[in-house]
Amino acid sequence: VDLRKEARELMKGAIDIHTHTAPSMFNRPYHDFDLASLALKAGYRAVLLKAHESTSVFRAQLTQRHLENGIDVFGGLVLNAFVGGFNPYAVDLSAKLGAKMIWMPTITSQHHYDFYGAPQYGSMKSDSAPLSPKKGLTILDEDSKIKDSVLEVLQIIAEHDICLGTGHLSNPEIMILCDKAIELGVKKIAVTHADFELIALPLEDQISLAQKGVYIEKSLLPMMPMWHSITPKETADSIRSIGASQCVLETDFGQIHHPDHIQGMELFVVTLLEVGITPEEIRKMLVENPQRLMGVYEGPE
Ligand SMILES: [Zn+2]
Repeated sequence: VDLRKEARELMKGAIDIHTHTAPSMFNRPYHDFDLASLALKAGYRAVLLKAHESTSVFRAQLTQRHLENGIDVFGGLVLNAFVGGFNPYAVDLSAKLGAKMIWMPTITSQHHYDFYGAPQYGSMKSDSAPLSPKKGLTILDEDSKIKDSVLEVLQIIAEHDICLGTGHLSNPEIMILCDKAIELGVKKIAVTHADFELIALPLEDQISLAQKGVYIEKSLLPMMPMWHSITPKETADSIRSIGASQCVLETDFGQIHHPDHIQGMELFVVTLLEVGITPEEIRKMLVENPQRLMGVYEGPE
């Protein structure tokens, strides 16, 4: 069997919900337009642009219009210090402009600081490091209660029925956040690259979240040599324990030491097939589930 050909077939209709592109404070080898045209050629349904720096809804709209291509280019908003952290005004505006995902803080979260010591990490160094707060962002106040501003953000996400991403929060924050979001009526939640070294959410927690309807991002990046947080076999085992119906495959690509996002996804799919994940499971995680999270699923219930 030609596994690469099979992978390319399975990628038709896919949405990569975790991609990084230029322009960015980090060195990104592919521009928004590059990614979108490669995704179009590969038969993707859409891509979601994730930017640590700001909202990506404007660039997503420009990219989609520029290519006039019939695939959707989605944007979202990461709640880093650069947009004022848990800023309901930024969330509301992005939501009204079509944001598909609101992420909790990433490189300016307290947990990111605790783990990496700075907003930069690994080989992700910026030539012009932005001014960042001394203390990172956390969803909890001094009494370990969720901050009012976070509740406001969750309410806006629920109202617009868009997806909540957990960003670079700590494990306890992720668990508290997901429960509160569900309680407030958020229907779409994705745990951002759950196996990445910085998150490494224990499998039993991934399973318990999945049982509550939360989707777990299974990411290619944590298996790559520069990050090596998990092996392909461990990834496959975790998918089987959680159930493919609650997992989403994404690349998190856009680093100078990786090939492009589409080649990455092919590598990811071939690898998973080789360690025994079935084509049906791949389709669920790569096409159906991300389409549900992006609100564009049209298949059978
Ligand atoms: Zn990312």
